[in-house]
Amino acid sequence: MNFFSWTKFNPSPEWFEQPQRILIVDDEARIRSSLRLLLDGVGREILECSTGSDAIAILKSQEIALVLLDINLPDISGLDVMEWITKFKKPTAVIMVSADESIDSAIRALRNGVVEFVRKPSELDKIQHKVDNALHRSRLERSHALMTARLEQSERLHRFLVENSPDLIYTLDPKGCFMFINGRVESLLGYSRGELIGCKYTTIVHDEDVDQAQYAFTERRSDNRATTNVEVRLKCKNNNYRHFESRHIVAMLSAMGVYDDSSDQQNSLTRHFMGTYGVARDITERKIAEETISFQALHDHLTHLPNRRLFKDRLDLSITQSTRYGGLVGVMFIDLDRFKLVNDTHGHAEGDELLKNVALRLRNCMRAGDTLARQGGDEFTVLLPDLFHAEDASIIAEKILDELKAPFYVRGQEFRATASIGIAVYPRDGDNADVLLKNADIAMYKVKANGKNDYMFFSAEMNACYHERISLENELRQAIQESEFELHYQPQISVSGDRIVGLEALIRWRHPLHGLLNPSSFIDMAEEAGLICDITDWVLAEACGQMAKWREMGMDDLRISVNVSPLEFDRNDVVERIACNIKKFNLPANVLEIEITENLLLQDVSGVIDKMRLLRDRGVRISIDDFGTRYSSLNYLRRFPISTIKIDQSFVKDLAEEKRISPIIHAIVGIARGFGLHLVAEGVETNFQMKTLNELGCDEMQGFLFSKPVPAAEVELLLRDSTSNISAVVS
Ligand code: C2E
Ligand code: MG
Ligand code: MG
Repeated sequence: MNFFSWTKFNPSPEWFEQPQRILIVDDEARIRSSLRLLLDGVGREILECSTGSDAIAILKSQEIALVLLDINLPDISGLDVMEWITKFKKPTAVIMVSADESIDSAIRALRNGVVEFVRKPSELDKIQHKVDNALHRSRLERSHALMTARLEQSERLHRFLVENSPDLIYTLDPKGCFMFINGRVESLLGYSRGELIGCKYTTIVHDEDVDQAQYAFTERRSDNRATTNVEVRLKCKNNNYRHFESRHIVAMLSAMGVYDDSSDQQNSLTRHFMGTYGVARDITERKIAEETISFQALHDHLTHLPNRRLFKDRLDLSITQSTRYGGLVGVMFIDLDRFKLVNDTHGHAEGDELLKNVALRLRNCMRAGDTLARQGGDEFTVLLPDLFHAEDASIIAEKILDELKAPFYVRGQEFRATASIGIAVYPRDGDNADVLLKNADIAMYKVKANGKNDYMFFSAEMNACYHERISLENELRQAIQESEFELHYQPQISVSGDRIVGLEALIRWRHPLHGLLNPSSFIDMAEEAGLICDITDWVLAEACGQMAKWREMGMDDLRISVNVSPLEFDRNDVVERIACNIKKFNLPANVLEIEITENLLLQDVSGVIDKMRLLRDRGVRISIDDFGTRYSSLNYLRRFPISTIKIDQSFVKDLAEEKRISPIIHAIVGIARGFGLHLVAEGVETNFQMKTLNELGCDEMQGFLFSKPVPAAEVELLLRDSTSNISAVVS
């Protein structure tokens, strides 16, 4: 019988209260009616018939508690009816009523299960008593059969529930050995039930959890203090891991003591302890989900390193420990140099891959107990607890810089990464996590300002510079909004032509307190603070607008040079932003020259070349500023669409009467001639420098010898008198 069929069989209490039916089978109507008179009463229903076949028909269709059966019937014998009852296992008691005196029929009747034998008419007066007994017995038997059926049902129900439970259900004997365990153990832990029966519970408990699980597995309490929801790891058998990274499952265990119910239940001291019953629920999936969520909350998803929050927690803890037990705590702030370029020119996928590789190398530099975390973007932090000397941190910093030297290979491309590292040490440089991190960050900025790819310890002076810097940065933002900038123009002279051929636009900031500031004091900061684009836009519009005015005044054989930050070439809109000014002021494109410093070319990336080509295709000239000051391969001169190179003023300064001419100047002049490039010398201050450069073959020059950078109004005077003034200088 399966679960569903037997759950339908559920007799109601009314079943017991139904009247008990008595069937009187006798061919004599007189006997039938006298028996009816004798036996009728409350809770009884009397039926009667006169033949054996009628009796069988009634027994087939109704439940009869007792049959009073005459042996001699007109059709078949009462004994045949009795045999039929036995054969078909009818739950009916039978009292034979017979006039037959022979002992044989009585024996045959009793063999067939007849409960009483009454002779008529002599014993009819005893029948009432016998019927009462038979009915009483019948009722007892029925109720016993029902109880048994109910118990069987209940046991089957429980067995079904236990066997089909998603939980592990077991009982242990008082020694802690399995007496029963449900089939779930097979799919959950890979053990067969047979192999665990008789084994101690420790067979399935994770070695590290045995101590803690002991109380749950040997639980004797059976009241509400019994074990509920204790977390314990259960071992899987051999290689049967559902979660192949772990050889165990995590289970939530509830257990209680089991006692012999026949003993005195009121007195727990006298109750007989039979063992422990337990249920273990597999919560591995939930645990993994919880762990994943808490891992994600405390780790960076890209590198899987601790994140800012976890780092701060660990730093707080290290500070507390160091306060209590002494020792120093080091905090490092690491920022990758020019990482943004990788993202912008190669794409974020490559950038992410590179960051992962960098994180791996950084991790190699850590000692046990150090924490490397990702703060976000290309910023990492390191916690060095327990430093003996502050300077010990420099060993790790040097190791990091060294480790980064080898190139990275990402998706078939070679990348190089350098880092700037700032270090702050507790308690010297701050007494809490925020201050230490901020100071390490300040020191890192100082490294950036000093040329990057290095490390520095924080110092108090840096803090002053930092605050100055922050306020200057805010002022610069305001300056952009309030247009506190001016352009000054420095003429570029053609010595042979005796005239001004170009003007370089140089920005000035009219600071409300500090007066006129040169670009050296704010351009780098504008680049770092992401403000350079606004400045470039202003300079381009101002310079092109001014040029348009001069052209209207008839000065149409001049070109204008504008300095553009290399960072602009990281952006995709640089070409459009330059071109739109040419269009807006209706200038021929070749009037505008863009000056870019040599380090842009060091990036040697196709994106930059493409943008420069687009500018050249539109006719804009491109000039390499401060040429010769940086390491660069001559190769790029071939690849980049350049029109002009400017000899850096440091080489020009070197030209003095008592000195030999620097071979670099010879080389630069040679390069310009060889590649067919325009050549301009800047920083020309003396006649000697002018003459020497001119003799070497450089015709165009710029420098204080001719004019300092001056406001637009003064440029007009210079232009008007240009020929006479220059002739005076040149001659
Ligand atoms: P640069 O483009 O190399 O400009 C030449 C610098 O040399 C100018 O300094 C100029 O005043 C100075 N100079 C010119 N002739 C002489 C000379 O005979 N002797 C000496 N000692 N110096 C001379 P300035 O104006 O201070 O500009 C410094 C740098 O700032 C520029 O170097 C340029 O790289 C940058 N800069 C200027 N304006 C802008 C701008 O609008 N945008 C950007 N991104 N950078 C700019
Ligand atoms: Mg320049
Ligand atoms: Mg220059």
